[in-house]
Amino acid sequence: MAQISADLIVIGAGPGGYEIAARRAALGEHVIIIEKSAAGGTCLNRGCIPTKCLCATAERLIELRDFAEFGIAVGDVTPDYAAAVRRMNAVVDSLRADVHAAIAKCTLVEGVAAFNPDGSIAVGDDTYTAARIIIATGSRPSALPIPGAELAISSDDFLKLEALPRRLAIIGAGVIGMELASIAAAFGSEVTVLEYCPEILPNFDAEIAKRLRSMLSRRGVKSVVGAQVTAIDRHEDNTLSVSYNTRKGEATVDADMVLMAVGRRPVVPDGIEAAGICVDRRGAIITDDNMETSRAGVYAVGDCNGRLMLAHAASAQAQRVYGGDVDLSLVPSAVFTIPEAAMAGITAEQAAELTVETKSAKAMYAGNGKARAEGHTDGFIKVIYSATDRRLLGVHALGAHASDLVAEATVAIAASLTVDDLAHRIIHSHPTLSEVLARACANAL
Ligand code: NAD
Repeated sequence: MAQISADLIVIGAGPGGYEIAARRAALGEHVIIIEKSAAGGTCLNRGCIPTKCLCATAERLIELRDFAEFGIAVGDVTPDYAAAVRRMNAVVDSLRADVHAAIAKCTLVEGVAAFNPDGSIAVGDDTYTAARIIIATGSRPSALPIPGAELAISSDDFLKLEALPRRLAIIGAGVIGMELASIAAAFGSEVTVLEYCPEILPNFDAEIAKRLRSMLSRRGVKSVVGAQVTAIDRHEDNTLSVSYNTRKGEATVDADMVLMAVGRRPVVPDGIEAAGICVDRRGAIITDDNMETSRAGVYAVGDCNGRLMLAHAASAQAQRVYGGDVDLSLVPSAVFTIPEAAMAGITAEQAAELTVETKSAKAMYAGNGKARAEGHTDGFIKVIYSATDRRLLGVHALGAHASDLVAEATVAIAASLTVDDLAHRIIHSHPTLSEVLARACANAL
C-alpha cells in the first residue's frame, strides 16, 4: 500500500511514452513508467518493427528471382518462414534492450495502471501521483461485428505464426492488410484482400493506390475492392470461407486462414471517465492541441487519443505536452509493401477541396539512372503544388525506398519550398533516386 509521487507518470512504454519519459528523466525529473506488457509497445512488439523484419526477408526473396539477370547464378531458393520469424524476434529483442537502456533513469513499474476518481493512479495496491500524467496506452486490433469474426486472426496473431497458410484471405486493404499481403505473397501464399472502399489504401493518393494494386496483383495478391464482408464460415475440412457482397452480387473466397485488418481501436486505462477524463464515441481520449485531456495535468498521446495512429505521430505529440514546437499538421506516412508507397502533405483528393488552385506533376522511376541500374524501375513520384505561388503542397511516392524519399519532401513542404527550388535551385546528387523527386518538380509546368 505504498504512496509514491513523481514529476511525471507515463502510462505505456510505446513510442508515445518511452521517448518522452527518457528525455524528462535525462533532464533530472523523477519519471515513473507503468507498463503492463513488453517495453516498446505495439510498434516494437507487434507492429512496425516485426513487420519490417518480415518485409526485409520478403524483399530478398523477390530480388533473388532476378539474380541471374544481375550476373549471379543461384540454385533453388527455399523460403524458411520459421527462420525469418526467429530473425524477427531477435531484432525485436535487441531493440527492446535499447528501449530499456533509454529508460534506465526512469522507474519502470510492471503492472496495469487504473485511474482513481481523484486522478491518482492505482497499480495493484500502490498509489502514484505526479505533477503530470501522460497516457500513452495505444490501441488494439478491432474486428467486424459479423458472424464468424472469431475465426479470423488479428495482426498480433499473424506476427506469432511460425508458418504461413497456403491460402490467406485478408479483410481490409489498409496499411496492415496490404503490408501483410505483400509479405505473405512473397513467401508463396495465395492472397486475396477484400476491401470495402472503391480502392485499396483509402487514405493514400488514389493513383498510387491503384498502381500499387496492379503491381501487387502481378506478385500474386488478388484485391477485391468495393467488397462488403458479411460472414466467415468454417467448412467440415476445417478450411474457411469469407462471404462478401459487391455490386456484382454475392461471392465467397476460400482460405486456410483469414486475417482481419479493419482498423484499430484505442486502449484506455480503467477509471478514466470517473476521474473526469472524457472520451469520444470511438472510445478515444479527447485532447486539446497540447494533448491535454479534460482533466488538467493529464495528457493523452498516440493511438489512445485517436488522432493519428502512427508511431512517429505519438512521439511528436508527446513533445507537444512540454511545449515542443513540433508541426503536427505535417506527418509523413508510408506503407511498407513491396514496393513501398509513401506520402507527405496533401493528396490530390484533398487538393480538390482547397480554395487555392493546385496542379500536379509526375516523374517515373524508369527515367532515373540509379533505378535502372538497380532494376527498380517500377514506380513514380507525384508532386502537388500551388498553381499561384508554386509552393510544394504534397508528395506521393511509389517505388523502391519511397519511405525514405518522402523525408526530403517533408522538409521541403515544411520549409514552404517551391517546385522550382527543388528542380533548379537545390542540387540533388547523381545518380540517386532523389533525382526522381527533382525530376517530378522539373516537370511542373
Ligand atoms: P486502416 O484504417 O489503415 O485500414 C482498414 C481498412 O479496412 C480500410 O481500408 C477500410 O476501408 C477496410 N474495411 C473496414 N471495414 C471493412 C469491411 N467491412 N470489409 C472490408 N474492408 C473493410 O487500418 P489497419 O490497416 O488495420 O491499421 C490500423 C492502424 O495502424 C492505422 O491507423 C494505421 O495507420 C496504423 N498502421 C500504420 C502502419 C504504417 O504506417 N506503415 C503500419 C501498420 C499500422
